[in-house]
Amino acid sequence: MDHLFINNVDVHKQIHSIKKEIRNLQEKMNHLEEQLSYLQQNCQHVFNETDLMRRCVKCHYTESLYY
Ligand SMILES: [Zn+2]
Repeated sequence: MDHLFINNVDVHKQIHSIKKEIRNLQEKMNHLEEQLSYLQQNCQHVFNETDLMRRCVKCHYTESLYY
């Protein structure tokens, strides 16, 4: 019984640290997406077109041509 209790505490700690890590990564992702969108907004696009979409070869910004 004691052993089980200890394990539960471990799981609780692990979950806590995993959730903290997820929050950190989400913040980092948000930050990276902001950077990405900033770069794409300020890029002088050079598009490579296909039938369905076009993609900038410099910043990989994509636009659908399929309306
Ligand atoms: Zn671009």
